[in-house]
Amino acid sequence: MVQSSVLGFPRMGVNRDLKKATEAYWADKLSQEDLLKEGKRLRLEHWKIQKDAGIDIIPSNDFAFYDHVLDHIQLFGVIPERYTKNNLSQIDQYFAMGRGLQKPDKNIDVPALEMVKWFDSNYHYVKPTLQDSQVFKLSENPKPVVEFKEAKEAGITTRPVLLGPVSFLALGKADRDQSILPLDSLDKLLPLYEDLLKQLKAAGAEYVQIDEPILVFDLKQDAKDAFKPAYEKLGSLGDAAPKITLATYFGDIVHNTDLLKHLQKLHSIHVDLVRNPEQLDEVIAALGPQQSLSAGVVDGRNIWKTNFQKAIEVVETAVQKLGKDRVIVATSSSLLHTPHTLASEKKLDAEVADWFSFAVEKVSEVAIIAKAVTEGPATVRDQLDANAKSMKARADSKRTNVAAVKERQQNVTEEMHNRKAPFPTRIAEQEKTLKLPKFPTTTIGSFPQTKEIRIQRNKHTKGEITDEEYEKFIEKEIQDTIKIQEELDLDVFVHGEPERNDMVQYFGERLDGYAFTQNGWVQSYGSRCVRPPIVVGDISRPAPMTVKESKYAASISKRPMKGMLTGPITCLRWSFPRNDVHQSVQAQQLALALRDEVIDLEKAGVFVIQVDEPALREGLPLRQGKERTDYLKWAVDSFRLATAGVENGTQVHSHFCYSEFQDFFYAIAALDADVLSIENSKSDAKLLKVFVDEAYPRHIGPGVYDIHSPRVPSEQEIKDRIQEMLKYLKPEQLWIDPDCGLKTRQWKETKAALTNMVNAAKYFRSQT
Ligand code: GLN
Ligand code: ZN
Repeated sequence: MVQSSVLGFPRMGVNRDLKKATEAYWADKLSQEDLLKEGKRLRLEHWKIQKDAGIDIIPSNDFAFYDHVLDHIQLFGVIPERYTKNNLSQIDQYFAMGRGLQKPDKNIDVPALEMVKWFDSNYHYVKPTLQDSQVFKLSENPKPVVEFKEAKEAGITTRPVLLGPVSFLALGKADRDQSILPLDSLDKLLPLYEDLLKQLKAAGAEYVQIDEPILVFDLKQDAKDAFKPAYEKLGSLGDAAPKITLATYFGDIVHNTDLLKHLQKLHSIHVDLVRNPEQLDEVIAALGPQQSLSAGVVDGRNIWKTNFQKAIEVVETAVQKLGKDRVIVATSSSLLHTPHTLASEKKLDAEVADWFSFAVEKVSEVAIIAKAVTEGPATVRDQLDANAKSMKARADSKRTNVAAVKERQQNVTEEMHNRKAPFPTRIAEQEKTLKLPKFPTTTIGSFPQTKEIRIQRNKHTKGEITDEEYEKFIEKEIQDTIKIQEELDLDVFVHGEPERNDMVQYFGERLDGYAFTQNGWVQSYGSRCVRPPIVVGDISRPAPMTVKESKYAASISKRPMKGMLTGPITCLRWSFPRNDVHQSVQAQQLALALRDEVIDLEKAGVFVIQVDEPALREGLPLRQGKERTDYLKWAVDSFRLATAGVENGTQVHSHFCYSEFQDFFYAIAALDADVLSIENSKSDAKLLKVFVDEAYPRHIGPGVYDIHSPRVPSEQEIKDRIQEMLKYLKPEQLWIDPDCGLKTRQWKETKAALTNMVNAAKYFRSQT
């Protein structure tokens, strides 16, 4: 029979219970015992959901209090000494690595380990950080064994999930001041996996899932070479170990199929057939004679109902070649990246609600697909019919077929992507209109989102104050912000974004084609969850979105006012995109909506306009090659389409929260933004060298101080920073600004830091 399997389940619980519990624990409001109990309760609840849905292969050890890679860091004892020397309890040591720990009374002050994005998702993992003399040690009572037993006691046999040794090391790095190449320690790490697998088997585990997601990357030779020794060893433990499913996701593994021959002793290989259905034949051809295929056909990264007909076709194709006993129906990846359940959504429009499927619903989909293939479609006829009906309704819906939007897209010309004149002409005109001094100072957009702002916004959302009262409040906030900027003597003002809850949601709420959930939370890192808006249809702008606030701000300020928009790629990347049209189509629709907004801002007297694209880099496809070049082309095009409609004297800015552009500098240059503001205070100023090497002609504002901390940088420190930047950038190119928006800061430190920043800029101005 075709079995059903889930690769992982979201951890937070139906009401973000895990977030609440961990945060209460951190705030000393919940005991350690109660926190552990809550974790146990959630695991049990999630296993039961899957069991009740009829899933054959249910994961365990997919739960984590903070992050599953961090779990493995502790599991294998890859713990830098700074976290072990204070004799913290196991869980406190774990959180200290995840989020840092400051306890002045106990003389503890350790920063967190580095955290980075998990492949191309918005989830973040903690980076394994190794020492040159790294010793690995399997923890006592290893978590995967404990949780397997816990499930077993509850009558549920699970398949524990482990991050594989090659990925664990390849995703890691040497600790600061260390020079170890993590993969060099594979030999030392493998015995721990062996030991762990044996312990799992002894506890009763028949199967284990080992994730090696790095197989979807272009691998360097050392990583490729690591698969053979790793899996010939782990694959030859025979009855002493559970049978291994090796899982990959978020891409295809066809470019690495030569490695599959080293994996043929494993029970099965899992591939993501949602992202890359075309890899099916080649992967099947590379399987060993006994080996099974785990077919990931239910999307773990999105919220759309699975198209049963298509998924069943894919599974049937595999069954024809391999037989029913060698095919497993599965989620494409862990369901970690989807919200918990659609049942929590009470306010969704019924039409679109019928198109969605969150984690709980996706679990059922997996079971239904497996049943349809094993026992025949007649056994799940009602579900298949209902699904076909939803698919058809979505395809035929007015929302997904807006003729006016499609027509406008058809009429987009090459010319619409180009500013009227090249940069030298533009900047000359901008100098006339804006009259800025050298080393102009500005900020990135948001000012502190005070408690008062949040209170008023909440009241407004709940209907406790009228629109008019709320608008008055926002106007007052803008007035205050402008007054402060005048006092600070900044050169280009912003209105401060007090009206914005979130830089993507705010725009989504003002565009047609978006839907919002009440409870669609997805873990981003640790206890932090985000609630991405959903692109449900063709996107258009029914009315101006930001003009009122910016126009008002411009009307009361003596200095140029900078309008503030979120770019098409960021709007798309930080939402759940549609899966029925290519993302480039959605980006273009967003771009056209923003283009109108940009032109309207200009008409309203706003002659500096910033279009933020912090998500541009994270959208880069994981592998080199055509997909990446294509992406950069349509991403850049969407930015240009959004911004090119203005006159030469209007200055277009863009902002990025990083400064590593080496891999795709040409695309950054191709945006043709008059001014770029980028993060730089935490990175090496040397990164700016690329702007010199490529003879970048336009203006740049590398952040001169870190906005993530309340610390106030001194004037001297900022001067030193600027001096450093001047090694790479011409004085006439350089803008002076912070790293990013100031919304998470308090006013006190913001004023102090900006005062020092403006003084530093004035100092350089006086020198030339
Ligand atoms: N304009 C936004 C702000 O200042 C930019 C935020 C970001 O880059 N993430 O808040
Ligand atoms: Zn930023």
